[in-house]
Parts: sequence; C-alpha cells; structure tokens
Amino acid sequence: MSGHKAQKPETITAQALGWIDAETHAVAPVVHASSTYLRDVDNQYRTGRAYARADNPAYDQPEAVLAALEKGEAAMLFASGMAAATAVFQALAPGDHVVAPKVMYWGFRHWLIDFARNWGLEIDFVDMCDLALLKQAVRPGKTRLVWLETPANPLWDIVDIAAAAEVTHAAGARLAVDSTVATPVFTRPIEFGADLVMHSATKYLNGHSDLVAGALVTRAKDEHWERIAGVRARIGGILGSFEAWLLLRGMRTLFPRVRMAAANAQTLAHQLAANPHVSRVLYPGLPEFPGHAIAARQMKGGFGGMMSIRVKGGERAAIATAAQVGIWKRATSLGGVESLIEHRASVEGADTPCPPDLLRLSVGIEDAGDLLADLETALAIAHG
Ligand SMILES: *Cc1c(COP(=O)(O)O)cnc(C)c1O
Repeated sequence: MSGHKAQKPETITAQALGWIDAETHAVAPVVHASSTYLRDVDNQYRTGRAYARADNPAYDQPEAVLAALEKGEAAMLFASGMAAATAVFQALAPGDHVVAPKVMYWGFRHWLIDFARNWGLEIDFVDMCDLALLKQAVRPGKTRLVWLETPANPLWDIVDIAAAAEVTHAAGARLAVDSTVATPVFTRPIEFGADLVMHSATKYLNGHSDLVAGALVTRAKDEHWERIAGVRARIGGILGSFEAWLLLRGMRTLFPRVRMAAANAQTLAHQLAANPHVSRVLYPGLPEFPGHAIAARQMKGGFGGMMSIRVKGGERAAIATAAQVGIWKRATSLGGVESLIEHRASVEGADTPCPPDLLRLSVGIEDAGDLLADLETALAIAHG
C-alpha cells in the first residue's frame, strides 16, 4: 500500500494499488458478501463495521483506487451512476439553488426536472459552454452547487472546468463534474478545481457492459461529503459486493481499453467527416469542433471514445443506417469494449437538445477498419 501517491495511474489501476490479502496472500481480492458483523463481547464494534448498508469491505479497494486515480481524499461506490448523482443533490436542503447544464445525460436532466424541483431545489439550466451565462446564473450565498458534464452527452459539448470552478467558488458554491465520458485516463476534474467527481461506473470504469454501478470522488471529506455518505447509508442505494468485485476487475484494464477506444474514435472521426452521407461529425478531437481548444488543454492524451454523427437525409436515414450495421450493436449505454450505435432522439424525448438526424457512437476496441467498413456500408445502403 505504501508509496502509491508516487505511482503513475497506469500502475495504480493495473495492480489495483497492489493490495495483497493479509490472510491468504491472494493477489486478487476475496468477495466480501457478509451483510452483518460480529459485535465485541463488551458491546463495541471495534472494526467500525456493523451492517453492510452503511459500509462494506468490498468497497475498500475499488474506492481507494478511484480516490488515488482522481487525486481525491475519498471515494464512494453506489448502486448506479444515477444513485451517485442524485445523492449529491439529496444531500442539499430544500430551498437551495443549483445550476445544471442544458446539455447533459438525459436521465439525470429528467430527474432534476421531475423530482429535484418537486423536492424543493431551485434549478437553473444554462449553456455551460458560455461562462458569462454561468456567471449570471449563480447567486452568491444562495447557490450551493454547480453541476457540469464534459464531454456532455450526446453533443459532446466541452466545458472549461477550471473557469467554471472559478465562477462557482466565487459564488461560494461547490462544483461537481460528471466525468463518465472523459474518464480519469484523460481528465481529472479535481486538478482543475472541481470539488466532486461523478462516474457512471457502468461505462468505462467497468468497461465490459456487465454491471450497473456509480461512483463519487471528493476533493475533501467535508460536511457535504458526510451528508452524502448518510444518504447512501440511509436511502440505501448501495452496490452489491459481487458488483464491487467485478468493477475492480474491470478497472484494472482501464488505461489500455480507454486509450484504444479513443484512438479508434479519432480515426473514425476523421474518416466519417469525409463521408458523403454524413453532414457533421461531433467529436472533441476534431480541430474544427467548437470545444476542441479547451479539450486539448483539459483532456490529456486523447479525446475519449464517444462521438456522434449527423446523417444526411434526416431522422429516417439515421434510423435506416442504424438498421444496417452488423459489427456495431444497436443498443443504449456506452464505454464497453464493444462498439454501440444509437438513435438518441428516440430515447431522449421531446425536450431534448439532440437533433433527430443524430446517431451516437460508443467506439469500442475492435479493429478500426472493421468498424469503419461496417458503418460506411450501412450509410451507403441507407442512402441507396
Ligand atoms: C449512463 C450515464 C449516467 C447514468 O449512470 P447509470 O449507471 O446508468 O445510472 C450518468 N451520466 C452519464 C454521462 C452517463 O453516460
């Protein structure tokens, strides 16, 4: 365990901090499945563990790896990305003001509108790419939290985390960043001033499309963090022990998976930009993409594995293209080793900022030539 602060993130993840089971010397962790813990004869709980809704040894290693990767003081696992994100807001008080982005993961936007507002939070949605608008939206002394997502689903808007942190902190609020798509491979929001980082661990952190999980990492174990821990323990959105084990296994290959997906995405973005049936490629790695300059500063070593294409011929042609793929799989979600394609407007509903001709691509780690040929064939058939 010692010296992990000096280790490179590739080493931290590959070895999961190098923890060895004290009893058996196993290199892979055991699965801690117990829901309850023995009380000492004098009525104390000296291990600090009493019941697995409040705390679970199965979380210790994956949480330590995540905290080390994001350079935070602590991390917490949740039953899903949504459980993690909503816990941040449930730890606020009715009447608190928060600012969220117009372009963000649709399910969370809907929760903020349908649930958080009813619960008494005051929420303003702003275009976070324009920091003048964020400056206008924050209310010093009243705004408790600013939430942002970068790159943001499904248009991949890039938000300048350092600049947003400055505006947020000047108003006396905390900044939370949904960094699911950037991953700790490319961006560590805490280094840019964020107070909280959220991941849908369902996506790249696990990377194999075989579990649902979420995570938060905090810059400091402050009272907001303690309230979030209380939300997890009392509302009970906890991850199962087996899923925590599986997540740690997935995280060990985070760096090579995510780097390969991003390299494939970069290749595909350039090739698809020249395709006669594609009107626009939305990918932060393209020099002509509006957020490219900020992304080049903020994302180190790559621009991620997510992109969208806008298909000539509108919604009908987009859906027809998705119908013709073979290697790509028509499915929602993202961040797995296999490539997925999705007509997002069908998912997001009437109030979405997503145009109807858009196909979202979660680029996997297959051969880039196979992925390109499959998509080019599908585009050609759909336009035939
Ligand atoms: C999937 C996703 C979420 C929600 O996470 P779940 O694990 O599905 O609950 C939140 N934010 C982003 C960016 C996502 O992709």
